[in-house]
Amino acid sequence: MTHRAIYLDHQATTPLDSVVYEAMQPYFLSEYGNPHSLNHIFGEAAWDAIEHAREDVAKIIRVKPSEIYFTSGATEANNLALFGYLQQFQSKAGYQAIHVITSAIEHSSILAPVAELERQGVNVTKLPVEKNGRLYPARLEAAIRGETVLVSIMTVNNETGVIQPIKELSEICHRRNLKLHTDLAQATGRMTMDMKGSNIAMASLSSHKMYGPKGIGALYISADLKEQFSPLIYGGGQERGLRSGTLPTPLCVGFGKACALADLQINSDNTKIADLRERFLKMFSDKVSGFQINGSLQYRISHNLNLSIQGIDADELLSSLPEIALSSGAACSSVSMEPSHVLLAMGLTVEEVASSIRISFGRNNTLEDIDTAVERLATNIKKLRRMKY
Ligand code: PMP
Repeated sequence: MTHRAIYLDHQATTPLDSVVYEAMQPYFLSEYGNPHSLNHIFGEAAWDAIEHAREDVAKIIRVKPSEIYFTSGATEANNLALFGYLQQFQSKAGYQAIHVITSAIEHSSILAPVAELERQGVNVTKLPVEKNGRLYPARLEAAIRGETVLVSIMTVNNETGVIQPIKELSEICHRRNLKLHTDLAQATGRMTMDMKGSNIAMASLSSHKMYGPKGIGALYISADLKEQFSPLIYGGGQERGLRSGTLPTPLCVGFGKACALADLQINSDNTKIADLRERFLKMFSDKVSGFQINGSLQYRISHNLNLSIQGIDADELLSSLPEIALSSGAACSSVSMEPSHVLLAMGLTVEEVASSIRISFGRNNTLEDIDTAVERLATNIKKLRRMKY
C-alpha cells in the first residue's frame, strides 16, 4: 500500500506551475526595479512586464487590459467591487437608500463585506438556491426593487463546483439596468469566460486557484464604470488611482503567465480532469454504498465532487487519511469550522453536512492518484462504519 501524499484540494489552492515559476524568477533577482519608477531602465523593464501580464489577465476573460486592476487576490477584489462601487451612493443619499442583492452561497469574502454594509445601513437580499445548488433566475427578477443598485453572484461555487446560470442572471440585470458583479475565483482557467459578451460589469479573479502565485488577483471593472468607483486604499495613486501601492512585479508576471497557460490548456485540462472525476466516481460507487453527490453534476466544473457519506464524520475520515488532501463540508468554508453555509442553503441536514467531503481535481493528478485515493477512502469508510455500528 502506498503512503505517497496525494493532493485533491485544488479548489483551496493549486500548485504553482513550473513554467509560471520560471517566468517569475528574473523579477525577484535581476529585474527588481520599482515598476512605477519610469525614469530608468530598471523601472521600465518591470513596468513592461506588468503591462504584458495585464494583457494576459485581460485576455482570459476577454476584456481590455485597461479594465484590469491588480489586487492582492479575490478577497480584496470582492471588497473593492462592493465598497468601491457603493461608496458613490453613500455619499449621495446614504446607504439606507440602496438595496443590494447577493446569494446565500457566496464565499465569505462577499458575505462578510455584505454583512458590514448591512450593518452600515444597506438593505440586502440574499437569494436562496435550489437543492441542486443553483439559483433560480426568476428569484432574482422578483427581488429587484426600485432602489436596487448592485447584484453580486458568483459564477462557480467553491464547495460544490456548481455553475450558476450567470448568462440568464446578467440578462435580467441588463434589462433592469443593474450592475452585476461576479466572483470568478473558481471559474477562470476552468471555464471559458467572455465578460464583454455577457453584460457583466465587474469580476474578481484569483491567481492561486489557477496555478499562479498566491497574493495576487484582479478586479475587472468595465471602462464605463471606472469614474463611479472610489478606492479602498489611498496612497501613490497606482492602478489608475483605484488601488495604491507598489505592484509586486514577480506576482503580476506569474499571474499573467498562469492566465496565458490556462488559455492554451483549458480544453486539454478539462478533458483530462473530467476523465479523472469519472474514474473516481465509478470506482467509489463500486466500493462504497450509501453516499450522495451534493449539487448538480450537469452544471458543475469537472474539477469538483462534493459527497455526503452516510454514517461518516467527515473530519474523522479526513484526519484518518492525512496523506490525502481533501476538504470537509465542516471546514472548507471558513477557518471558524462552522458547518458549510453552502450545503445548508441547499437544504442538507446538519448530519449530511457533517458527513460531506469536497474532492477537487487538478491538471497534475494521475490515474494512480485517483486509484489510491479511492482505495484508501473506501477502506477507512468501512473501518469507521464498523467502529460505529
Ligand atoms: N472567492 C471564492 C469563490 C474563493 O473560492 C476564494 C478562495 N477560497 C476567494 C474568493 C478568495 O480568493 P483569494 O484567496 O485570492 O483572496
